[in-house]
Amino acid sequence: MKILVIEDEKKTAAYLRKGLTENGFGVDVAPDGPAGLRLALTGTYQLIILDVMLPGLDGWAVLSELRQAQRHTPVIFLTARDAVRHRVKGLELGADDYLVKPFAFSELLARIRTILRRQPDRPQELLRVGDLEIDLLGQKATRGGVRLELSPKEFALLSCLASRPGEVLSRSFLAKQVWDVTLDSEMNVVNTQVRRLRAKVDDPFPTKLIQTVRGVGYVLQPP
Ligand code: CA
Repeated sequence: MKILVIEDEKKTAAYLRKGLTENGFGVDVAPDGPAGLRLALTGTYQLIILDVMLPGLDGWAVLSELRQAQRHTPVIFLTARDAVRHRVKGLELGADDYLVKPFAFSELLARIRTILRRQPDRPQELLRVGDLEIDLLGQKATRGGVRLELSPKEFALLSCLASRPGEVLSRSFLAKQVWDVTLDSEMNVVNTQVRRLRAKVDDPFPTKLIQTVRGVGYVLQPP
């Protein structure tokens, strides 16, 4: 699930990128209105977080261009202004929700999940491979009903494998999808993380789901 953040304040943008990535979302950040609009029109995003005060084109203009182009990606406005007329303007233009800065990240996350849940074409929420079940919106994984305690990266890695069951995924593909890195030197990260994941997902259970394909990568499937 991918989220576009259009925000010119570097600190806020970095905070959002970090928090959203840790919660399993893919994140693109645009630092001004025109770049944000271009990405919103050309990319595939499940949601857009849109600052109101932006260089080049303000958040309202970005939203109205987007809706005029028949793009109905849900939008959460971030506004430093708490005035009622600003909220009304945003909602009239077709925003789905708004948050007044400064906001608690947990609050934003709750709003995001609420909006994603009510989307008619919402992404698949539940992945099942054998007795493994992954709830993408709830960020929970279970095996045979037993809750797996996974770190955010472990969860992202497992979700990535489970979204393509039976398909061999290369280490470089996983590095790109989960860590957004392309360097060969990062492949150790993949190996290490897969080892940690196995300790939680496979070791306590008689059937092993994560299979190594020598020289290629990993595949998630029942044996
Ligand atoms: Ca701003």
